Amino acid sequence: MTYYLSAESEELISNPKSKIENDTVLRVDIITIFPDYFREAFDYGIIRRARAASLVDIKAHDLRSWTSDKHHVVDDRPFGGGDGMVLKPEPIFAAVESLAGANLRERIAAEFAASEQLVLICGRYEGVDERVAKALVTDEVSIGDYVLSGGEPAALVVIDATVRLLPGALGSETSASNESFTNGLLDCPQYTRPPEFEGMRAPDVLFTGNHAEIARWRRKAAQEKTKRNRPDLLKE
Ligand code: SAM
Repeated sequence: MTYYLSAESEELISNPKSKIENDTVLRVDIITIFPDYFREAFDYGIIRRARAASLVDIKAHDLRSWTSDKHHVVDDRPFGGGDGMVLKPEPIFAAVESLAGANLRERIAAEFAASEQLVLICGRYEGVDERVAKALVTDEVSIGDYVLSGGEPAALVVIDATVRLLPGALGSETSASNESFTNGLLDCPQYTRPPEFEGMRAPDVLFTGNHAEIARWRRKAAQEKTKRNRPDLLKE
């Protein structure tokens, strides 16, 4: 299922091909297991106008569209044990994943999760009167060194990163403590079925059932991955 998003969503969903523009400047594809989440997210302000002007064409795709089994399974348990599920490689390879990182520090999200109330002021235009920052707000949060059209998408990021840290929000209390940034490292690489995919085999140690060995391998792999992708974390 592919959704084409607009204020006239119903029309576009029921007859999606009718509004595809060939001269669109930028095409954005979102690969997600919750395409409905984005149903109205781009129907406001500058993005709405840019879409109307065919400057950008945004589509939310259901990852399950790229599965071939009867139940459209996109995840599986991690080899070697551990919490949670792992998204399988096949549908993602097939869909051509694109991924963006956010620079919001896990530390800040943890502070928000410990608060009782969170009030987010989403800036627009050139920003917000500085006196608001001076006398009213407790934190000004940037999610990265790039300029958004407004604070709304940043609010989505903040809310997402915060809610997952609330006790009970994740399937298991240990899930969040194993993730990236909580111990100063990125999370270790994860693998699930099939054991071998397009000539790439999951590391043998994960099939040994030796938990100490697996934990050792995961620590080392997390360090290597951090060195490769976020060397700045190792210097802190
Ligand atoms: N004139 C501002 C500047 O150059 O920094 C940009 C203003 S931006 C168009 C409008 C609002 O979007 C900002 O006030 C802020 O609330 C929000 N915003 C933009 N980029 C952001 C980011 N990286 N993280 C969080 N909020 C952001």
